[in-house]
Amino acid sequence: MTDPLSSARIAIIGGGFSGVLLAINLLAHADGPQVLLIDRTGVFGPGVAYGTDEPDHLLNVRAGAMDVFADRPQDFLHWLRGPGGMPHADPSDFVQRRLFGQYIRDRLAEAIKGPGGERLSLITDDVDALRPVPGGVTLTLHRGGALAADAAVLALGNLAPTAPFPSGHPVLAHERFIADPWSADPLKMVGTGEGVFLIGTSLTMVDVTLTLRRLGHRGQLMALSRRGQLPRHHVIGPETPIEPPPAAATLSRSLQAFRAVIRDGADWRSLLDGHRPQAQALWASLPPKQRASFVRHLRPFWEVHRHRLAPAVGARIDALQAAEIFRYAAGRLVDARGGEGLITADWIPRGSGTTHRTTANWLINCAGPEAGLIRSDEPLLRQLLAEGLIRPSALGLGMDTDAQEHVLARDGQPHNRIMAVGALTRARFWQLTAAPDIRVQLERLASHLLR
Ligand SMILES: Cc1cc2nc3c(=O)[nH]c(=O)nc-3n(C[C@H](O)[C@H](O)[C@H](O)COP(=O)(O)OP(=O)(O)OC[C@H]3O[C@@H](n4cnc5c(N)ncnc54)[C@H](O)[C@@H]3O)c2cc1C
Repeated sequence: MTDPLSSARIAIIGGGFSGVLLAINLLAHADGPQVLLIDRTGVFGPGVAYGTDEPDHLLNVRAGAMDVFADRPQDFLHWLRGPGGMPHADPSDFVQRRLFGQYIRDRLAEAIKGPGGERLSLITDDVDALRPVPGGVTLTLHRGGALAADAAVLALGNLAPTAPFPSGHPVLAHERFIADPWSADPLKMVGTGEGVFLIGTSLTMVDVTLTLRRLGHRGQLMALSRRGQLPRHHVIGPETPIEPPPAAATLSRSLQAFRAVIRDGADWRSLLDGHRPQAQALWASLPPKQRASFVRHLRPFWEVHRHRLAPAVGARIDALQAAEIFRYAAGRLVDARGGEGLITADWIPRGSGTTHRTTANWLINCAGPEAGLIRSDEPLLRQLLAEGLIRPSALGLGMDTDAQEHVLARDGQPHNRIMAVGALTRARFWQLTAAPDIRVQLERLASHLLR
């Protein structure tokens, strides 16, 4: 952009953690731009991850590692220990996710009260379309009207989970199919003794299980995913990262080197944590074929080892399993039919040709966020794709972007007035899910926008 910054208007679409943190970074700069922060929910800060009211939903990162401001180390921890908070909060604690949501809201409120606050406009609406116009961009709002800005940042977060069957499949309309696992309300309909079939064995499934238990559910829970991998646990207390072995020429050699270090007695968690600062550089160095191979074969294992459960949460899932209340399996859901108060699911166990049939009272989609743009129903993304303004990543991980976070158009050219952050940009960075990773990207983008 060539416009003088202080007169520029930046539209940030999405007011979750990413959008709000970017806004705070921009407002902190005395000559920063006007910021239009738009979110469909009207809640700015917590987003999907930290907007949960569930007391049992804990951060899966230690409090001391949820640092989001480069110039304020341990700020979240200080906030936690503040008035009316948790005076004895420890950096190694896994605290409630809603607390982190409240923290981000508080920091946004401070930024609004600060000298840059008058440059911020909070807008509650859906952005249905975003188009370049000479000298800027224009945003079409769902409730009518449009906004003009010099540039826009897509901070849309994770895409909503997609349905387990093609649209029109009768079970999707059945009253006992719950499509949105991120809302507690439908879960309240589940009777305490009713059987539940959960599609997915990831963190979303764990969230749903904890919510059901808190609501008094005591029935059977059966979870199914292609690989049947449950998220692993964090250990209690601090963890000391271990320097990983140097990256080898190929992914499989790197993996062998990792395994050798673990065989020699290293804790895999410490090794993975030590690898974290290098993960993005390693990803960038991989040839496209190896990245594709990683996504196809190793991704499910990476996710369950990298995004681990808080120890208390892991212990609860273990206990449910030991009590034979919770079971899980590796397999492929092939069909489901609804009946009177029941849903019957047909699935084929991994490595088998025989169809199993499980009957439960409820079928809940816990498939986790959709990674591929093509399958997303998000109107804004559909418009951007249809008009060739963004390009889906060949790996099925969001959209292609360049090193300055500009989105790449269908022809591969970066668009210098449209940028993207967070999960949508995983194809370029791979490790870009947790708040500490997104924070680094947001600082980089803020300094680019403030140049
Ligand atoms: C259930 C869950 C738990 C997690 N737990 C942790 C954790 O413990 N620790 C950790 O570090 N990371 C965790 N994560 C990772 C998390 O994704 C990031 O930490 C971070 O919260 C992502 O924030 P975001 O702003 O990019 O996305 P989101 O929080 O999803 O925010 C995106 C926002 O964009 C809005 N939006 C989208 N499209 C439009 C549109 N067209 N118009 C208007 N508004 C729109 C949405 O309403 C939403 O508020 C978790 C993720 C999930 C899903």
